[in-house]
Amino acid sequence: AGGLESHDYDVVVIGAGGSGLRAAIAAHEAGARVAVVCKSLLGKAHTVMAEGGIAAAMGNRWKEDNWEVHFRDTMRGGKMLNHWRMAQLHAQEAPDRVLELETWGALFDRTEDGLISQRDFGGHKYARLAHVGDRTGLEMIRTLQQRTVALGIDVFMECTVTDLLKDTGAAEDRVAGAFAYWRESGRFVVFRAPSIVLATGGIGKSFKVTSNSWEYTGDGHALALRAGASLLNMEFVQFHPTGMVWPPSVKGLLVTESVRGDGGILKNADGKRFMFDYIPEFFKAETADSVEEADRWYDDKINNRRPPELLPRDEVARAINSEIKAGRGSPHGGIFLDIASRRSPEFIKRRLPSMYHQFKELADVDITAEPMEIGPTCHYVMGGVEVDPDTEQSGVTGLYAVGECSGGMHGSNRLGGNSLSDLLVFGRRAGEAAAAYAEGTARSRPTVAEADVAVAQERALAPFSGGEKASENPYTIQSELQQTMNDLVGIIRTAAELEESLVEIEAYQERARHLIVEGHRQYNPGWHLALDLANMLLVSECIAKAALARQESRGGHTRDDFPGPDPTWGAKNLVLSLDATGTGVNLKEQPLPVMPDELKEYFA
Ligand code: FAD
Repeated sequence: AGGLESHDYDVVVIGAGGSGLRAAIAAHEAGARVAVVCKSLLGKAHTVMAEGGIAAAMGNRWKEDNWEVHFRDTMRGGKMLNHWRMAQLHAQEAPDRVLELETWGALFDRTEDGLISQRDFGGHKYARLAHVGDRTGLEMIRTLQQRTVALGIDVFMECTVTDLLKDTGAAEDRVAGAFAYWRESGRFVVFRAPSIVLATGGIGKSFKVTSNSWEYTGDGHALALRAGASLLNMEFVQFHPTGMVWPPSVKGLLVTESVRGDGGILKNADGKRFMFDYIPEFFKAETADSVEEADRWYDDKINNRRPPELLPRDEVARAINSEIKAGRGSPHGGIFLDIASRRSPEFIKRRLPSMYHQFKELADVDITAEPMEIGPTCHYVMGGVEVDPDTEQSGVTGLYAVGECSGGMHGSNRLGGNSLSDLLVFGRRAGEAAAAYAEGTARSRPTVAEADVAVAQERALAPFSGGEKASENPYTIQSELQQTMNDLVGIIRTAAELEESLVEIEAYQERARHLIVEGHRQYNPGWHLALDLANMLLVSECIAKAALARQESRGGHTRDDFPGPDPTWGAKNLVLSLDATGTGVNLKEQPLPVMPDELKEYFA
């Protein structure tokens, strides 16, 4: 491509979180020449923020645990909309992936007998999360990063991909590379590779209150769509029940579910432990209905049912929302999360060191002495690129998607801990498949067309030349979009509000055509945001469209006008793709893949 910097690889992984690094390692070990491209520094992905742990049925605490129980919990947590095959592979392979991390140097907390410790989390029948205090993600990323570097895999840091490049020469619809810019210099770079793995994470920055960082602008989702792949289940956005609500500068920051897993309970302004009032029919049989039984469960899981605070996240988030709406909230508009009255200060500081410091430093609250104020925060997107469950290949040949930017695995609601295990299980699978496919193209490598590179370049520079009408500031549009998504596409939805959101999003899209970006290409955050904004708008439109179409409430999608789950909808996925013009979003209903009878038996 003219004088542009350009690189050739077999496999290019976009994203250096857990899924991207695990994919890169697998592809490298399979013999491929691999590069990892990431828009921040290596080690700074969302994975590093993960607190609670990695879900894997290792049976270290409860020998009764096995992949079948984990599979069942995952499917039930996702309200049966998960791709059964992904949930099965995930449950079967997660223990090996955790043990493998250990052989690569990860140091997990231990049980009394020296095994990897496992902690309780919502929706998991047994204590199942392998962890390192409440800093599990840090240990996971440290381990994967060290291995990536030790293997000599090339890493392009602070380099943002803005377009995928297709093989225009072939009859088959296949990918040929990626177009990116260096954040520091603003210079462009072209990656040529038969296999591209999207591992870009989620979409949380489209919402105002979120636990996600600036990196989560839905880039992979948008890149996939624009390359001709489809997205699945975008209406399902997880609002984590416990984010900080005060002070305003940290609103949305995550308070790990481990606080509840380790004994914390939720109370309203009257001091009432309210979760007992919100146990849905679907989970009644497995949830304690008295304080006594709930408290006994921590030590005896065989003879007691789990506390309602550990219902899946969607249930707990809705319950908190209802209490706040009913006027029983805390002074700063949240609810109380209390572990101080339940566990000793030593226990809390040992098991939840980050939470202790987070509250002490940011809110001047000592969580060993007083309750925390918390409220729901946008945390995770279940929806993502539609992939083949065994290889993670999207509808476009050579294009793979893993981790939070892929769809199907978590159905309508993800259980805590199931993301970190998802990254490892499917990261490895995608890396192997991407390497195998690349090897097979040895005689007919896809080629990047110069004309496509020119188009990508033009698109990237467009924000500098907004034309005569240019007057719009990307920051303003972003903050208005975040407000719209929070208010109209948030935790509780209605048709009227969703329709209004679509009108607003369209107006933002129109305004975004007339952006004005000051300055030059050298480290220019306004320009970077202008490019991210296009992705955020496209992904927000997908979420709102799918949310309007799904006329039921299920998992991370709650419709005030259709309050219950509907079995007809429970048999369908919603699939989004771009139309032939590349601008209109098409939506279609698609039946769920059929679960084999031997797996159906677990739900009899
Ligand atoms: P990430 O780790 O976010 O990595 C994305 C990568 O893509 C980054 O390197 C980024 O720079 C790069 N990228 C994005 N766009 C581009 C682009 N255009 N060009 C180049 N690079 C790009 N899950 C659990 O299972 N257990 C937990 O205890 C847990 N705790 C959590 C706590 C917090 C605070 C948060 C936010 C999440 C938590 N999760 C947890 C969820 C889990 O951490 C994430 O879902 C998971 O880490 C996502 O991994 P990933 O590999 O998909 O993406």
